[in-house]
Amino acid sequence: MELQFMTWMEVESYLKKRTDVIMPIGSTEQHGPNGLVGTDALTGYGMAMELNKHVGSIVAPCMNVGMALHHMEFPGSMSLKPSTMIAVLKDYVTSLARHGFKRFFFVNGHGGNIATAKSAFSEIYHELETAGISGVKCHFESWFINPDVLKLCRELYGKGEGYHATPSEISVTQYLHPEHVKSANGLKPAPEMDDHDIYGAKAFRDAFPDGRMGSNSAAASIEAGEKIVKLTGEVLSKTFKEFIGS
Ligand SMILES: [Zn+2]
Repeated sequence: MELQFMTWMEVESYLKKRTDVIMPIGSTEQHGPNGLVGTDALTGYGMAMELNKHVGSIVAPCMNVGMALHHMEFPGSMSLKPSTMIAVLKDYVTSLARHGFKRFFFVNGHGGNIATAKSAFSEIYHELETAGISGVKCHFESWFINPDVLKLCRELYGKGEGYHATPSEISVTQYLHPEHVKSANGLKPAPEMDDHDIYGAKAFRDAFPDGRMGSNSAAASIEAGEKIVKLTGEVLSKTFKEFIGS
């Protein structure tokens, strides 16, 4: 079920039986010459929906804009500042916690969200407990760094996986939205890299002129996307079940 397609009465009866909710979160930012600006939001939402096939929870609306300040030199990128994002996450979680939701399982599509989300969770626990609401837990799962998923991505693409606009995440969007596959005609792999310190947006564009970080994004395929999505749904369902039992 998706929250936006439920009635309040359906939510009320769900809360009599269970208190878990899946929170998709992503980003709206450049993903190189053949990756969609919405890649991280589309993968966060898509993986949340795939997970939910296994666990029958409620999927909340996807938080489509995340912390992507370092991508702002590329047209189309949008970002929340970390302080704004903390405020938004607090409002999302406290809204649902007020109704009785207690287990918030975030499915994240963007590495730049991780630090800010963890900070938000500290504030959320503190403020909810101060307000007398106890027992709320947030789990943050970045699908692309889950060890089992990462292993598959490395098997598929080796070093060409890279760190941004990866063939794996582009494959996932191609599988989820085949009508939006972009041509990669003649696109060469970005230079290989190991280190990936990130500074400001100008420094990012200077270091990574076409937006990719070490990725061979032309190798993306619908077939690879299907494998990655299905494996992610399976492995996240195990983590999810442990989490809601905690
Ligand atoms: Zn991405």
